[in-house]
Amino acid sequence: MINLVLFGPPGAGKGTQSEKLIHKYGFVHISTGDLFRWHTKNDTPLGRRVKEIMNSGLLVPDEITIAMLKEELDKNPNAKGFLFDGFPRTVPQAEALDKFMKDNGTAIHYVIALDVTEEEVRNRIAKRRTIDNRADDEEDKLNKRINEYFTKTIHVLPYYESQKRLNTVHGIGEVDQIFKSLCEIIKT
Ligand code: AMP
Repeated sequence: MINLVLFGPPGAGKGTQSEKLIHKYGFVHISTGDLFRWHTKNDTPLGRRVKEIMNSGLLVPDEITIAMLKEELDKNPNAKGFLFDGFPRTVPQAEALDKFMKDNGTAIHYVIALDVTEEEVRNRIAKRRTIDNRADDEEDKLNKRINEYFTKTIHVLPYYESQKRLNTVHGIGEVDQIFKSLCEIIKT
């Protein structure tokens, strides 16, 4: 069993790389963003609780996020491995994830951060804006999500770094080259 956490700001290419990793390694993909979107789309009680927060681009409180993640883990007792995408985003989430893994007799084997600077992410999004003609509120939300990453989520990296568990891959360049770098880490 291999469990992996893929880290990176919005616009870093996490979605693209996750897809390729799942295809190659058969991970069960756990994207808390996708799960929250499913709940809001289906108007579940959880969806109703988080809709406003998500619309504002802010992070959902840990208590709600961690409970949802635990439920998802419990639904997949026979998984060959998990790829966590968009989770953890805070230190309490990272601690909870370690505990859940330990309780199941496993661990997070790889934590990989796609290293893309705030400047690069903002440039990519500015470029995309000229092509997509996105609505202003979408822009505003995206800006908030980037702020949430660089003010909150980035503090999870020292948690893993201090335990010598953090791998960093340069996230700017060709998709296939970045994928190759990810696979080299997983092979080790
Ligand atoms: P994403 O698609 O991963 O960027 O997630 C979309 C939105 O879902 C985020 O802007 C947050 O509001 C919420 N969300 C997703 N994952 C988390 C998480 N691990 N902790 C808190 N909020 C989250």
